[in-house]
Amino acid sequence: MPFMAPAPVTERKTRLGIPRALFYYAYFPFWEVFFSELGAEVVVSGRTNKKILQEGLSVSTGELCLPIKLLNGHVADLVGRCDFVFLPYIISTQKGSYYCPKLIASPDIAKAVVPGLPLMSADVDIDNFFTSLFATLREVASKLSTNPVRIYAAFRKALERQELFECHIHAGALFEEALAAARQGRSPADDARGPAGREGEGPLVAVVGHTYLFNDPYISFDLLHRLRERGARVVTSDSLSAAQVGEEFSALEKGTHWSLGNRVVASVIRFSRRRDVGGIVYVTPFGCSSDSLVKEYIDANLPERKPLLVLTVDEHSGDAGVVTRLEAFFDMIARLPAGAG
Ligand code: SF4
Repeated sequence: MPFMAPAPVTERKTRLGIPRALFYYAYFPFWEVFFSELGAEVVVSGRTNKKILQEGLSVSTGELCLPIKLLNGHVADLVGRCDFVFLPYIISTQKGSYYCPKLIASPDIAKAVVPGLPLMSADVDIDNFFTSLFATLREVASKLSTNPVRIYAAFRKALERQELFECHIHAGALFEEALAAARQGRSPADDARGPAGREGEGPLVAVVGHTYLFNDPYISFDLLHRLRERGARVVTSDSLSAAQVGEEFSALEKGTHWSLGNRVVASVIRFSRRRDVGGIVYVTPFGCSSDSLVKEYIDANLPERKPLLVLTVDEHSGDAGVVTRLEAFFDMIARLPAGAG
């Protein structure tokens, strides 16, 4: 038998799972680069489907809101496929404003309901004077690399990717478009089509709500795509910068205290002033405690009335109801003279 050289031993990369839910839609560009640069293989849970949703519903208690139930389904989808599941405790990403208690506690909730979860976490609290984002992430990174120079280089590269992604988002791109453009290193100015959401001939429709809701086609009934299919141009509440959210609140007596609620209120107010926006769709999940307050704020502070469609989604919502309501919404926009509202 001829001599055969042994196959080279290749060290298996650490597999790091990221659930396609909640903060995935805000910070995945950062996490993808950070962990890949540290040598990990980044594994994302599948796109939301019936199986993932059912899994989330079956392990979650009834009083949780839909996005948290869905997170649990995505976490369960990753168990057994990776060495760690990364799920940070995100308390604040801006001074003086916080995420809702369910969002902050989501890693604990997932740990309590998904058996065998190999959780890897970090506390992100920009409002905390005694810690910094880098210090927090250095601790997590130590599971993947002991080289401080490599960790810092990964951090800088991840920040650059995140900044580029956010430039696209603020220029009007939707999540998937911004992610693809940032991965390719394109700047919004390079985009030959111009900022996404401004192409097409139809009315400009503003979609406001939590990014993890309207960017998930399954639970939002493919809202963004449906709007575009009807010829509408779409802009979302993600496109507002933190400074623009702050500007809107400087004119109000006080904010809602919650970061996501503030963004929704600021977006509705800003979009309702814009003459080019034909109507607003506000997507809200059933069981969201902070959104119940937000609706009051919107009613009390809306400067100008535009056609406003409030779509409350839950695990029992049906496709047909959404289609009918969208039709009525477009009829309403069509009846208004151009530029009115
Ligand atoms: S903000 Fe609302 S929808 Fe989001 S996690 Fe909190 S309660 Fe749930």
